[in-house]
Amino acid sequence: MTQRLLLATRSGHKLGELRALLDLGPDVELLSPDDAGVRGDPVEDSETFEGNALIKARYFAERAELPVIADDSGLEVDALRGGPGVRTRRYAGEDASDSDNNAKLLRALTGLPPPGRTARYRCVLVYLERPESEPLITSGTFEGRIALAPRGHGGFGYDPIFEPATEPPGGRTVGELSAEEKNSVSHRAIAARAMGELLRGRS
Ligand code: IMP
Repeated sequence: MTQRLLLATRSGHKLGELRALLDLGPDVELLSPDDAGVRGDPVEDSETFEGNALIKARYFAERAELPVIADDSGLEVDALRGGPGVRTRRYAGEDASDSDNNAKLLRALTGLPPPGRTARYRCVLVYLERPESEPLITSGTFEGRIALAPRGHGGFGYDPIFEPATEPPGGRTVGELSAEEKNSVSHRAIAARAMGELLRGRS
């Protein structure tokens, strides 16, 4: 019997990546909030990625009456003492575009040479069978540094200004990697692989 599972994000990019990464087999149908007819979004007012992922998971689990996987993720820049962190999506303002956010971050790091520009993406995934269930939680990080200027059009968010630690300074940004390359090493890939294993281990 096909099992339906809601991916609790309205980001088309995150939905695409999670669909590619969560290897749950042909019997699990992954739905978006729109597919499940759920409107609205919760206020993400926790100071941690885990707290915000739990807020999203509960909101959608209550409304969809389906098991849910929620993603909360962001960028931690060492020179900004871990910022923008949980404020990554709205770094340059509530309705900021990706290029507004990238431009603000490049301005904040003006004059800083590559060794001082270290950063990481962090992703926390939460699975909730029902709103009151004990959550399953996995996480992943992706180490790198903030480039001196944007390069590449792949991925989303900060990808054009994020150089993986495996690249030399000035090397390829995540925006210049193929989707397959990003999906083999990213923070979301690590968290999703671990979640896939936990869920397959339960069935
Ligand atoms: P939220 O999890 O919806 O609060 O937003 C997380 C924000 O972090 C996104 O809007 C992006 O700006 C950024 N982010 C998270 N993961 C990635 C990624 O894989 N690439 C680029 N930016 C990301």
